[in-house]
Amino acid sequence: MSEALKETKFLMKKNKIKANKSLGQNFLIDDLALQDIVEGAEICQNDLIIEIGPGLGSLTKLLLEKSKKVICIELDKKMVKILKDRFIAYKNLEIINEDVLRIDLNELIKQEREQDSNIKNVKVVANLPYYITTPIIMKLVENDLGINSITVMIQKEVAERLIAIPGTKETGAITYTIYYYCEGKKIREVENTCFIPEPEVTSEVITLKLRENPAVQVKDKKVMFKIIKSAYMQRRKTLINSLTSVGVFKNKEEGTQALRKLGLREDIRPENMKIEDFAKLTDLFLNSISK
Ligand code: SAM
Repeated sequence: MSEALKETKFLMKKNKIKANKSLGQNFLIDDLALQDIVEGAEICQNDLIIEIGPGLGSLTKLLLEKSKKVICIELDKKMVKILKDRFIAYKNLEIINEDVLRIDLNELIKQEREQDSNIKNVKVVANLPYYITTPIIMKLVENDLGINSITVMIQKEVAERLIAIPGTKETGAITYTIYYYCEGKKIREVENTCFIPEPEVTSEVITLKLRENPAVQVKDKKVMFKIIKSAYMQRRKTLINSLTSVGVFKNKEEGTQALRKLGLREDIRPENMKIEDFAKLTDLFLNSISK
């Protein structure tokens, strides 16, 4: 029997724990998958690790051995109590009982860096609660937090959308946002039998490395992301039709001219647009409305 399975069963029994579905509690009990997450995160001794949703601590245990400090953010009070007991001997662990979506991560990371100038990289490592995967990841990538990488287990379908290359079949509007800020990589898939209780979906571990500079230059990234969202609201339609219906193009003629100017086909669909194409289209649009 795997170590993580033994420990999880023991802790659940001892503390009379039933996984709380509404908090997305699926405990990872596969030693190899846990090891692969930690290896995928490429942790060094001087790294500060932020773990979101540590649960009963199977991943936390490995992170504590590898890094300078681990800060765990866990919403469930019961888990916090168990973690405090379990890791009482560790001086490099801080546990915060908070909702990750409410916590001021900017302030938290700033304080840690001020307190310890030897911290090299800040890395997020987690088996995320799936019901809030997207808001958590958006919070981590959009806010210039000084995080170097994010290694997370999430639902496979979501993972593949996040790390797709923009302009391919797997692309969604979110793919462009992630690509703008990060370089994504698949680490591995994880079967649902590797969890207690088993989730209904297959999982995947991915790493997002935050770029030093965004993938493209654009006059206003917020406008670009709005245009992308509008285009993907009706992904089967041509770009001209979608963007004319939301007023990015005044009419189809204007759309045709714009696409010609950018060297794109008139019947191009959103999923054939590279991020560079959307950036150029955004600049063209902003120039046209500033005249
Ligand atoms: N890391 C553990 C593991 O791999 O076995 C547990 C992972 S479980 C998928 C997700 C964890 O996130 C649970 O412990 C849950 O209580 C916690 N959680 C759920 N919503 C949260 C939130 N908004 N903020 C912080 N933690 C949350």
